[in-house]
Order: sequence, then C-alpha cells, then structure tokens
Amino acid sequence: MNPVLETRHLTKAFGGLVAVDDVSFQVAPGELLALIGPNGAGKSTCFNMLMGQLKPTGGTVWMKGDNVTGRTPRQIWALGVGRTFQITSTYPSMTVVENVQMALISHHKRVYSVLPFARRLYRDEAIALLDMGGLADQADRHCAVLAYGDLKRLELAIALAHDPFILLMDEPTAGMAPTERVKLMQLTADIVEDRGVSVLFTEHDMDVVFAHAHRIMVLNRGALIAEGSVDDIRGDPHVQEVYLGGGTVFGDTDA
Ligand code: ADP
Ligand code: MG
Repeated sequence: MNPVLETRHLTKAFGGLVAVDDVSFQVAPGELLALIGPNGAGKSTCFNMLMGQLKPTGGTVWMKGDNVTGRTPRQIWALGVGRTFQITSTYPSMTVVENVQMALISHHKRVYSVLPFARRLYRDEAIALLDMGGLADQADRHCAVLAYGDLKRLELAIALAHDPFILLMDEPTAGMAPTERVKLMQLTADIVEDRGVSVLFTEHDMDVVFAHAHRIMVLNRGALIAEGSVDDIRGDPHVQEVYLGGGTVFGDTDA
C-alpha cells in the first residue's frame, strides 16, 4: 500500500549541528510507528519539520503522494494531519463536550453565526468521540477541573474531530503517571485499530513502546540507525548500546 507519510533524505542543520541527518522513512496506512532515541537524537526536530514548524535544510516530506515540503503548519493541518500535546489546546472555561464541539464546528467550517445553536451542534458526534476515550461521563464538566490524564485524552478527541489520516504525537505521555500512560497508549492503539488512522509517536518508556508499536525506528545523533519489529529492536545489541549507553537492557527503564 502507498505510504501516507514519507520523508526522503530529510535533513536539518542548526549552524554546524546536524540535528536530523538524511532521514528517510515511510508510514503505512493504519500503522502505529514509534520513533525512539536518546535525548537530543533529533526526534522533535523531525516532528517539527513534518508539521511545518521548521523548514528542512535538505530533503523532502510527502503526504499521501504529494510533496508538502515547506508548507505552513496550518496547511499541513488542513491536509488531515493531526497533532497532539505540543501545547494544551483546550479552552479551560468551556466544558469538555463544548471543546470537542468547537473542533467539529471548525472541521465542518461552520461560521460563528451558528453560535446560538452551538450548544446542540455536533453534540452527539462530540459525545461519541469522548466515549472512545472513556470521557463521556465528564462531558459537562469544565476543562479547568479535569485531571491531567483526562485532559490528554480530551486533546486526542479534539484531534480526532478533524478526522485526520495520521496523528503525530511527540512524547504524548510526558508527565503522566505510569497507569495513565498505559491508558493513553491503549486508547491510541484502539483508535488505530477502529479508524485506520496512522500514528507516528515518540516515547521514552520502552515498555509502552514495546507493548503497542507495530514497528520501531531508532534515531541517534540525527541518523536512523535501526528499524524493525519490536523483537528486532529489543534484540539488537547495537541499539541497546547506543540507546541506553550499554549499561542497561530494555525492560529495566522507566523514564
Ligand atoms: P530529541 O527530541 O530527540 O530529544 P531534538 O530534536 O529536540 O532532540 O534536538 C536535536 C538536537 O538539535 C539537539 O542537539 C538540540 O540541542 C538541537 N536543537 C533543537 N532545536 C534547536 C534549535 N532551534 N536551535 C539550535 N539547536 C537546536
Ligand atoms: Mg524531543
């Protein structure tokens, strides 16, 4: 099947530092792909180029067969690329369900003249999206009072309101307690399964990566040094050495 996302020789230099160095990969439809690597490996720089935040120094980014290199974040979003968790994107003064309704209204490009009716608009669809994340019972609470893990699941529901073909998630579980991390990644895996969405994510917790990723890519000093299944990566001595400095084996870590 044709890739939904592809990079070819993607490169980003900051002065003399090559943060992303000739990186080429593809994301298949419905694939849950992890990008791992030590701090400073270039993961976020890579994501920022995919999302239009940073212009590459070299190479190209392709979405569904189109060269989208150099497009703005807004243009990339409009293609159907969802992103989560870079910023807290919820409105604290609105309720949980209203936040999702706003995203649906924006997606369907309804204008604000509908505001008197907005309380009803897309409410059922919004509840259905919340229900996926186990948040339907919190629909009428204000976002300001949500627990951190619930807020992160709400951000995922908001991203899905735009009906993306791919979700880009840079450290989605940062700052979450281990049980909440597991819940969020389980939800992400369910979304991949149910909706056929592709997901590219970074994550420090190797247990989370090994439990859910379909495929793993390893970045070190800007370059891709390995790629394969969970078993391939877990058993790769070179990856263990580079990624964990040789002293630890996968399974013992908890970032
Ligand atoms: P990761 O997300 O894998 O931890 P980053 O992509 O954030 O890695 O960083 C990769 C390298 O690029 C690091 O050495 C970092 O200091 C450097 N870097 C990232 N952003 C900038 C920037 N805006 N200006 C200069 N150097 C940067
Ligand atoms: Mg990062």
